[in-house]
Amino acid sequence: MKGKQNPSDRGVMIVTGGSRGIGAAIARMAATRGYAVAVNYVSDTRAAQSVVDSITRGGRLAIAIEGDVAVETDVLRMFETSDRELGAVDVLVNNAGITGGFQRVEEISAPVLTRVLATNVVGSFLCAREAVRRMSSRHGGRGGSIINISSRAAELGGSGEWIHYAATKGAINSLTVGLAREVAAEGIRVNAVAPGLIETDLHAAAGAPDRVERLSATVPVGRAGSADEVAECVLWLASPAASYVTGSILPVSGGR
Ligand code: NAP
Repeated sequence: MKGKQNPSDRGVMIVTGGSRGIGAAIARMAATRGYAVAVNYVSDTRAAQSVVDSITRGGRLAIAIEGDVAVETDVLRMFETSDRELGAVDVLVNNAGITGGFQRVEEISAPVLTRVLATNVVGSFLCAREAVRRMSSRHGGRGGSIINISSRAAELGGSGEWIHYAATKGAINSLTVGLAREVAAEGIRVNAVAPGLIETDLHAAAGAPDRVERLSATVPVGRAGSADEVAECVLWLASPAASYVTGSILPVSGGR
């Protein structure tokens, strides 16, 4: 389906890692708020297609785009496909991320470190670069919004679990603050949300399916959060209601 078959009043949103978890919740919620949505994923075609189907069943426009955010040619193809199928991007959500599993620093291998940094940091930079090239008034764009999915781990440090992962989210925070200032006068707002303990597949993928249950009681509000609770904040940051908000890192963590 082409954009003109389904006019979207809010414009076009690209969600990296939109096939599952927080990204899928953002993609679905964005569609209900009037965005046409590009749902990027790396391997789970069925999950991505299911997100797209649920959106199009609701009468909104969405497409699935396979691509590894750590691979430059994939990122270029993803943005070109979105340009062609949906139109100029208005909002980028840099959500795709992996933990690399649980490893103390003295155990970590170079390939794991490289993969986590490539996905979480290089991927977010490459996607932000492509978004700025399209959105910035400096390049003839009409402005836009970039929202990076950080983590409370950036400040908590991830000790005993995943300092490597926490460090990538520290980099995301620096990207958020620096890029916000770099492009503020070019019509682009850049913000981040820093989720705490959120119920998704991420914990099982890291090797601890019981992690959410085990740690829920340590969250000040006494429970884990849902992907929808994160998505609400992302949609607010993307919206005109947040027009004076840029360079912010919003904890969505129940006080964690
Ligand atoms: P998830 O359920 O494991 O989903 C990860 C998503 O990222 C999937 O859609 C996956 O695609 C995609 N992905 C992974 N590597 C990719 C790559 N190289 N290129 C493109 N897509 C890729 O994770 P989640 O819990 O929703 O996490 C989403 C974001 O929130 C991450 O940045 C994570 O660090 C952050 N976060 C999560 C929590 C939490 O407690 N869950 C807390 C703080 C921050 P496939 O389906 O194709 O595999």
